Amino acid sequence: VRKLNPATGEVITKIAAAEAEDVDVAVQAAQKAFPAWAETPAAERGRLLLRLADLIEENSEELAQLESLDTGHPIKDSRRLDVPRTAACFRYFGGIADKIEGNVIPVEQGFLNYTTREPIGVVGQIVPWNFPLMFTSWKLGPALAAGNVVVMKPSEITPLSTLKIAELIKKAGFPDGVVNIVPGYGHTAGQRLADHPDIGKISFTGSTQTGRSIVNASSGNLKRVQLELGGKGANIVFEDANLDAAVNGAAWAIFHNQGQACIAGSRLVLHEEIADQFLEKFVALAQSIRLGDPLDPNTEMGPLTSELHRDKVLAYAKIAVEQGGKILLGGTAPQDARLKNGYFVMPTIVEAKVDDRVAQEEVFGPFVTVIRFKDDAEALQIANGTEYGLGSGLWTNNLQRAHLFAKKIKAGMCWINSYKRVNPGSPFGGVGKSGYGREMGFEAIHDYTEVKSVWVNVDAIIPPHFQRGE
Ligand code: NAD
Repeated sequence: VRKLNPATGEVITKIAAAEAEDVDVAVQAAQKAFPAWAETPAAERGRLLLRLADLIEENSEELAQLESLDTGHPIKDSRRLDVPRTAACFRYFGGIADKIEGNVIPVEQGFLNYTTREPIGVVGQIVPWNFPLMFTSWKLGPALAAGNVVVMKPSEITPLSTLKIAELIKKAGFPDGVVNIVPGYGHTAGQRLADHPDIGKISFTGSTQTGRSIVNASSGNLKRVQLELGGKGANIVFEDANLDAAVNGAAWAIFHNQGQACIAGSRLVLHEEIADQFLEKFVALAQSIRLGDPLDPNTEMGPLTSELHRDKVLAYAKIAVEQGGKILLGGTAPQDARLKNGYFVMPTIVEAKVDDRVAQEEVFGPFVTVIRFKDDAEALQIANGTEYGLGSGLWTNNLQRAHLFAKKIKAGMCWINSYKRVNPGSPFGGVGKSGYGREMGFEAIHDYTEVKSVWVNVDAIIPPHFQRGE
């Protein structure tokens, strides 16, 4: 696969593309490594993950530069967010490895009933291109802590940082075969992971359409599936909100990583009383965002990660206008000659009706759709009015309203007076067409283990089950 620099369109390097047969070899290596890995003391598995976290910190600058070169993330963000969050995630799961406990259940007299959590076996993991480094840790951390072995496929568009992590995994001392990285295309290597008869679980982050095809492919051996798919996050600003904080939070919610985030606050739902005032400040802030070379520490927004994706995002500006939407800012590539070969898109703000395509479909770019509301009931209806349910946010100083919305909103995550917070201890995932299962936190450990219930007759006297004769 030719690996292109999204900021310039130039070829950086070439990466091998694994075919289905290569995936089969990786699965065999993983199967071979599984018994010993599952039997390795949990504290030792944890120690290796902690060592990996240390190595990530020791190699932080190289990883940050690779991630920015590969994806177009501004280097400032790769340094202060992607790399530290990746190390923190491995460290969290390193710490959890020897704390995965079962329960003792109070059953009938004379019996002891307890549960254990066992690893599933070989798990397949498919990573997208928007946060390749961080998502590598979200997927490997819980799987390995729980005693599974892994075959992981990075996106064909952004394999570099995952390959560097593979090198650090080896250096940390993980036994051979425990982690296998197979770069390659979705329809070949990815498809084989999804339909492989010896893979017990597949974890996927990406589009809803691909998620559906993975569910279909997984049915042969009924493998477990965890899906983290798209979103159309509603970010609601009420009339009593601290407007400056909300403007700042809303800009971060949609423009961080050029909007290429499943949890992006891509629907800005504004109370009509404050909408004009809010938009004036919001447009001014968006206009001031510095686009540029991702490796320049002053850059605040880089290019989109691929040309195809840039074209898809720009097409949505046309779609918005065709349906009567109003472009308040952007909707085009920047004019700046320095940026002409990269896949840049201007921060884009569009006002539209609630049923318009740009208010319903995931654009996955620096593209926010503004919708106005008049009261709480309408705000909730708008927020819950898409097929997705991943991230959501609300800005208000009314305590009752905040908690009521947190309860009623259809989403896996809800941020109150903030947006887009993530922490390895806090479960991450969605409902509806945003997928199912959770990454991070103890929920992820649950998703990577099988529960076994064990019954012991301690001192129960069991009468004969079948009475015969007199
Ligand atoms: P995609 O779902 O096609 O790709 C994500 C990963 O899945 C890649 O590693 C890819 O190789 C793999 N894949 C593709 N087809 C596969 C198949 N048939 N079987 C197994 N694996 C397969 O995403 P995309 O086409 O690169 O992006 C399209 C849209 O998806 C974006 O515009 C965005 O809306 C959404 N997306 C969401 C996320 C997220 O974080 N939830 C991430 C990336 C993309």
